[in-house]
Amino acid sequence: MHWYEIKLGGKGYTNSGLSQVCRPDRVSDIAKYLEQVGKNGVIARGSGSSYADQTVNADGAVMMSGRLDCIRSFDEKTGELICEPGVTLKTITEIFAPRGFMLSVVSGSGQHTLGAAIAANMVGQNAHKRMSLAKYVNWIDVVLADGEIVRASHTENEELFKAVVGGQGLIGFIALISVTLLKRPEENVLVERRRINNLNDLMEALKSARKNADFCSVWLDTSAPADSVGRSILTTASFTKEPCGEPLFSLPKIKWHLPHFALYLASLPVFKNLRYRLSGSISKKVEPYESFLYLSDKVKVLSQKGVYQLRISFSEAEGPQAIRRILTELSQTRISACRAFLVLTKEDTLSYLGSALRGYTISLDFIRRRGLEDFLKHLIMVAGEHNGCVSLQNDALLEPRHLFVMYKNLEKFIKVRETYDPQRKFDSDFGRRLFLKEKKNEQ
Ligand SMILES: Cc1cc2nc3c(=O)[nH]c(=O)nc-3n(C[C@H](O)[C@H](O)[C@H](O)COP(=O)(O)OP(=O)(O)OC[C@H]3O[C@@H](n4cnc5c(N)ncnc54)[C@H](O)[C@@H]3O)c2cc1C
Repeated sequence: MHWYEIKLGGKGYTNSGLSQVCRPDRVSDIAKYLEQVGKNGVIARGSGSSYADQTVNADGAVMMSGRLDCIRSFDEKTGELICEPGVTLKTITEIFAPRGFMLSVVSGSGQHTLGAAIAANMVGQNAHKRMSLAKYVNWIDVVLADGEIVRASHTENEELFKAVVGGQGLIGFIALISVTLLKRPEENVLVERRRINNLNDLMEALKSARKNADFCSVWLDTSAPADSVGRSILTTASFTKEPCGEPLFSLPKIKWHLPHFALYLASLPVFKNLRYRLSGSISKKVEPYESFLYLSDKVKVLSQKGVYQLRISFSEAEGPQAIRRILTELSQTRISACRAFLVLTKEDTLSYLGSALRGYTISLDFIRRRGLEDFLKHLIMVAGEHNGCVSLQNDALLEPRHLFVMYKNLEKFIKVRETYDPQRKFDSDFGRRLFLKEKKNEQ
């Protein structure tokens, strides 16, 4: 049993802490490590790409899942994959896409581990069709605080399942997963990119995308002037039998490593304006499904200055008004996001801490600067006024009082946590920020 002292942080560089870190090699090691955990408990960590304090446990322990990356079995007939939590989404795609299978969730990056994708209840560009990954999880084996391994599924230990899915590692450690991979309908997708002038046009286009497209995401120009709020580029994609056109030439596939300055550039109004205008009014392209995936992995920005992400879900009824209000405030205050996306979502009834509603999920990244936290807290309040739900996945700023308003199943989550881990052996800076008992009593 080896422990190392390492300073770990979130991907957004807003939070970090010095922790005792272990990397179990086998599932059977997890319980042995848990016995040695002391003050401040332990939190699971996959690839560590949550932005804030989700996998930070200052003065506590962190258990990395990276070495637990064995694929135990795969059934070609049913698509059932049984594997350990440290297997990444990209690995699953690389192995099983050539055999005609796909994961139910298409996320921005393939670096995420499967265990974390379940613990963070990941949703992607096909969330309006498939919703979160959890729907396709057959069962998970969870190592609880006392070292016991318990199987949980939609029908067995259902409450535990609903708390672990989306539970951000605060209930137990997911040690083994059975998930159904879907048959990929075709090898290629027809990707269509369309420039949209304003929010009304965008909402109209999204109605049709919800019905017809397999995948859908929107890049938003957060610095558009008030009369063209909602100016955006809509990307939709659907499986197609059409073959890919052979390119006359292709650039070598390289991963771009850009300095922090690139993020700063991306948030400038002039850059956004240029991106919008250069995109062309409409473009269509057939490409292999695999190359359409994981766009975020093609560019890595090396920034340690701090990035906050605010991801909010709104219902279909409230969405247009709420999104208009947020975009108008961004335009008026000139606080431009360096990255702003919108996806369509279906209601998420699976996880007690699931945030997605049937409607829209807007995701905004901002470079840290003076006064930004207060502005983001104001946007959280705006979200609350429109019955929105701020996702916990990358959040750095929510407070317990927000949670009680936004998460209708919060009490159920707390009850499961008190049942399975009354001593809070599984804990993190995130857990202490949002679930302090004293704070709960203050509500
Ligand atoms: C570039 C980029 C693109 C993204 N795109 C999307 C997207 O399209 N859709 C989306 O929903 N999110 C997206 N995210 C957010 C990200 O998906 C989630 O934060 C995801 O969980 C990160 O995976 P990870 O392996 O890095 O997890 P970590 O950051 O390491 O962990 C995430 C959470 O899962 C818990 N956890 C990890 N492993 C286990 C385990 N074995 N048992 C129990 N709990 C565990 C951790 O404690 C933590 O709370 C994106 C983030 C980035 C940086």
